[in-house]
Amino acid sequence: MNPPVTPFKCGICGGTAGEVLFAARDFNFHTTEESFSIVRCSACGTAQTVPRPPENSLGRFYPPSYYPTGGFDPAYYRRTIQPSQRKKLDIVRRFRQSGTLLDVGCGAGFFVREASKNGFSAQGIEFSREAVEFGMREGDVRLTEGDLLKTEFPLSSFEVVTLWQVLEHLPRPVEVLKRIRALLKPGGILVIAVPNFDSVQARVFRSRWYHLEVPRHLYHFTPATLRKVLDAEGFDVLAEYQHSPEHNWAGILGSLFPLVASKGSYAGRLARLVAGRPLARGAAAIEAAFHRGGTFTLVAASRQ
Ligand SMILES: [Zn+2]
Repeated sequence: MNPPVTPFKCGICGGTAGEVLFAARDFNFHTTEESFSIVRCSACGTAQTVPRPPENSLGRFYPPSYYPTGGFDPAYYRRTIQPSQRKKLDIVRRFRQSGTLLDVGCGAGFFVREASKNGFSAQGIEFSREAVEFGMREGDVRLTEGDLLKTEFPLSSFEVVTLWQVLEHLPRPVEVLKRIRALLKPGGILVIAVPNFDSVQARVFRSRWYHLEVPRHLYHFTPATLRKVLDAEGFDVLAEYQHSPEHNWAGILGSLFPLVASKGSYAGRLARLVAGRPLARGAAAIEAAFHRGGTFTLVAASRQ
């Protein structure tokens, strides 16, 4: 058993005892050389990144290359962007086929666009000014730049709120869930997709896990810990999915061959990526089948 860490204050439940699991660095983007601890709260079980960088400094861990642009070019969009957005929309449509939808952490608004074109009155909110400006200019989508906790959307105005790989980035996830519950109509649908800290790939790769993403990921949820938070905040979980179209196999491949790998020639790295893709897809399908997928999606209803 590792010794408890101090100082530690759980960002979910306020607990002050935690177990250090391992240390990790920013292997994906190298924005800092600092080492972070992954600490599991002894009270609520949620793993988190310690120390949690101050909120006003978080921007410096998101390099320009973090937000992919160029995505609205029609041919590129159809081939590269649209398939995964459609799969996300398929999940939403199992529960709602139309209505008002807010995508939190929408980036350039790819999902907002797909939802808008398929029956929803959709809009998005996003921290990155560059991503919002790009999306509104190139994608003709309705986006707001800023912090959900500071913006004033009308209360009880949305049928659906989605967070695709976003909640783990937010310094105050519980406050965000409270705000979302206020913004949703009673019985409204919340969809949250996050990396799965309980996945096979997380356990195998540990500090080198691609989706660990410190210090951009502040929380490392499992289906069990996120279900507990949702229940406490007034949501009933309706469904859990473990088959992500893009993130699960990428998690395995990305862990094996880091994005900014410096070893080997470009051609050699490319060959490994191409060769590794079917293998990673197969492994991702197997871990998802055993409910240990690299990412998971919870669909919940706001309790009436
Ligand atoms: Zn806790």
